[in-house]
Amino acid sequence: MGTIQAVPCLICGGQGPGLDIRGRHICGSCEQVLLHLPQDHAAYEYCKERIKLIWMD
Ligand SMILES: [Zn+2]
Repeated sequence: MGTIQAVPCLICGGQGPGLDIRGRHICGSCEQVLLHLPQDHAAYEYCKERIKLIWMD
């Protein structure tokens, strides 16, 4: 094991394994949350805003 993911998760700040997109990281548990989060959930807007950051720069 030589690959330590140094980029924190965009949403929870954790460093578990997951998706790496354009230098951003979304951990597996947040990925699952996002997949199942209803659009009227309080966290949905927050997650959406965080994910927008992936496409900025
Ligand atoms: Zn996360």
